[in-house]
Amino acid sequence: MKRFFLVLLSFFLLLSFGSCSQERVCRGDFFAFDTYHTVSIYGMSEPEADALLSDLEAETRALENVFSFYLDDSELARLNRERKALLSDPLYSALLSAAKIKTETNGAFSPTLGALTSLWGVGREGFLPPAEKEIAAALAASSPDLTLSGGSASLPEGMLLDAGGFAKGVLAERLVEKVRASSCSRAVLSLGGNVGVYSADGSYEFRIGITDPHAPEKTAGYLLLRSGFLSVSGHYERYSEYAGQRYSHILDPRTGRPADSDVVSAAVWSEDGLLADALSTAFVVMGREEALAFFSETDREFGAVLFLSDGTVALTDNLKGSFVETP
Ligand code: AMP
Ligand code: MG
Repeated sequence: MKRFFLVLLSFFLLLSFGSCSQERVCRGDFFAFDTYHTVSIYGMSEPEADALLSDLEAETRALENVFSFYLDDSELARLNRERKALLSDPLYSALLSAAKIKTETNGAFSPTLGALTSLWGVGREGFLPPAEKEIAAALAASSPDLTLSGGSASLPEGMLLDAGGFAKGVLAERLVEKVRASSCSRAVLSLGGNVGVYSADGSYEFRIGITDPHAPEKTAGYLLLRSGFLSVSGHYERYSEYAGQRYSHILDPRTGRPADSDVVSAAVWSEDGLLADALSTAFVVMGREEALAFFSETDREFGAVLFLSDGTVALTDNLKGSFVETP
């Protein structure tokens, strides 16, 4: 029996309206990057908000044409085919950051694991776990580093890049930049597992609900945020089942198999959208101990909520007080 599940919306937006309840809100949603995006814009007239929403949707489509693994004509897909290319600024700078995080996380996060994601095809209709020999070959092709220099990238034999673990973090950053350049007073952008929040004077406190990975129709709790990006990665977001076993879309690039740590979902907040997106994926691979050790040892600024397989939650010290568990 093969089944495919896709939970599209990872966040529940619990906005506290308080004294701003009179402010006009405009909402827009659209489908891109294989997921739904929802944008809420406050304090603009309807024509202004509509123009901003169209601009955000257009920017999303432009970035999808850069980062998509599945659109045949995206810049990333072309690089995967041609193996060597001079890249656009957004792709080159995102790949530089992603490659750096690959090194810092000891390969738990890897933008070069496309041969593995493609082989496993988790979420595809008719999912079948691959054979050992195929896994070993895709792992060998995915492990080396890609070469980035002078605006160009070149891929070693067999390697494929997959931006699925960081592209929506880049998207969230780009869209919040556009919102910042507008006259909007505050905004919440929920972009397939990545949320960006913005308020013009930076003082508004947003309550962002986080899905309970053990019961995805519920919230496990919420985080209080004034700025930045919150990214959530979890097995529940996309998986396939075969012969009674679940296979997650989050792969461990060190073993070539679906991640199998004690972290079933990770929420990461950072002022850096790409970092939040990459680390939320990495922590599901690393597990609690390695993730918390990474937090203690790195200079990177972020906070994490780790949802563990035994139903408990582990927090980095800086989020104690900001995360409120649902009773
Ligand atoms: P996210 O939803 O941000 O956790 O990203 C998951 C997507 O990133 C998957 O669907 C794959 O396309 C890709 N991916 C899976 N495992 C990893 C990993 N360990 N590092 C980087 N990207 C990954
Ligand atoms: Mg991610």
